[in-house]
Amino acid sequence: MMITSHFLEAHLKCPTKCWLRSAGEQITDSRCAQRAQAHSESYAADEIRRLLSRTHQSECLLSPSADNLKAGRWKLAIDVSAKTSHLQSYLQAVERLPSEGRGKPIRLIAIRFVSTNKLSKDAKLLLAFDALVLSEMLGQEVSLGKVIHGDKHTTLNVRTSALAFEVRQHIAKIAALLSSPSPPNLVLIPHCAECEFQTRCRQKALENDDLSLLSGMTEKERKKLHDKGIFTVTQLSYTFRPRRRSKQLRDKREKYHHSLGALAIWQKKIHIVGNPEIMIEGTPVYLDVEGLPDRDFYYLIGARLGNLDSLARYSLWADSIEDERRIWNEFIGILTKIRDPVLIHYGSYETVFLRRMIDRYGVPPAESAVAKAVKKSINLLSVIFAQIYFPTFSNGLKDIGHYLGAKWTGPVTFGLQSLAYRLDWEQSLAPELKTALLAYNQDDCAAIETVTSHLTQIIREAKSRADVEFSDTPKRIASDKGLEIHGSLESLRRSAHFRYMHSRIKLSAVNTS
Ligand code: SF4
Repeated sequence: MMITSHFLEAHLKCPTKCWLRSAGEQITDSRCAQRAQAHSESYAADEIRRLLSRTHQSECLLSPSADNLKAGRWKLAIDVSAKTSHLQSYLQAVERLPSEGRGKPIRLIAIRFVSTNKLSKDAKLLLAFDALVLSEMLGQEVSLGKVIHGDKHTTLNVRTSALAFEVRQHIAKIAALLSSPSPPNLVLIPHCAECEFQTRCRQKALENDDLSLLSGMTEKERKKLHDKGIFTVTQLSYTFRPRRRSKQLRDKREKYHHSLGALAIWQKKIHIVGNPEIMIEGTPVYLDVEGLPDRDFYYLIGARLGNLDSLARYSLWADSIEDERRIWNEFIGILTKIRDPVLIHYGSYETVFLRRMIDRYGVPPAESAVAKAVKKSINLLSVIFAQIYFPTFSNGLKDIGHYLGAKWTGPVTFGLQSLAYRLDWEQSLAPELKTALLAYNQDDCAAIETVTSHLTQIIREAKSRADVEFSDTPKRIASDKGLEIHGSLESLRRSAHFRYMHSRIKLSAVNTS
């Protein structure tokens, strides 16, 4: 089968994605992929226009053949289709530089356009693939490439020949993968959230009860469990053993146990370890922030306070990076009017946001209630992590929020989608996109409030709730039947040990001197 840059791009993310693309598998989730595609196409179109405007028309080639590329006196070629017997690529642009001297060949430079400011290694490898295919088609070395990327049209020069070996290794792996009649073993990864096959793969993982459903588990941890013959979440749940902690360790936080997470899912119960606490001394202000990490830019600060009778909601929106200082100052102004505000958020994104805002725009007056609130914000995730295990596959706000009854009612329901909406809004300024983002952010704030009130309740009433277990105490025997079963198991264990002690062969050293 022909190996294309489309397959390589997928393979760099996930072998399953590469195999599914090659097999023409039906796409289950096209929205994220289509938006990403539209963004990169529009970025590339703008950049091509820019390059064309700087090159004389007579020196430009559009969709040239291999012969045109070899023969003509051109400087810039656009839409170049490169093909060999087993490789195919489509190059957005190729630049031709004159020879550096007599007897020296002309130089061809492969060009790729990437819309993001931050570049991953994947972009360089894809460029190196383009250069390799072009070089094999023309029978001429193409050892240089350029990635033009980001808002400032930054140019990164890449020595593609240095990446050729790595690219060839990927090509060999893809060839082996595509020759197989069935897809590779399925493993859910962070990229799934933006993949066109996410519903299909999640469904399969659920059917298999696959360990990769537990999103916090690393590949190394999963491999270790596979080596022990543990492949499913249910199997993992059997391995959890409650342990009493020694007095010295009682005040130290336990490490995170995936087996306990699995047990919580299997039993559909909440498990508590240690003594989780949540102390809110003041007026809770539920905070959620949206940003564009690629630009280090925060464009929306959402806050919610009060109760159902007198609810106050704030959505501070920045049209551009120049407005970031204004929305931060407005937020500080709001906090100033609240008596002893206590900022409550979910995850480290807001912790970093607060730190960066102080670095960028200065600290609120020292010793003020606002300065205290900003410095001592409460991260709910750090209260939950390794102390409260919900029966959910991840500790994300969406999973735990849904479990506790929070709802996302608008068209935007997760973070990656919000990024795509914001980028679309910047291009179109369509008011419905902004409305959808404001609603999403407020739903996040409401979810943080829901999680906070449930957490407080769970911690307070844990001992009397049927849906909560304490996992550092041995399992309670709930009924007479349970007592009977435990008694039988214990006598089985004892007699097995007794028989073993009597039937074993004992070797002892004999002194023959
Ligand atoms: S959803 Fe995840 S596992 Fe499935 S193909 Fe996409 S990235 Fe791979």
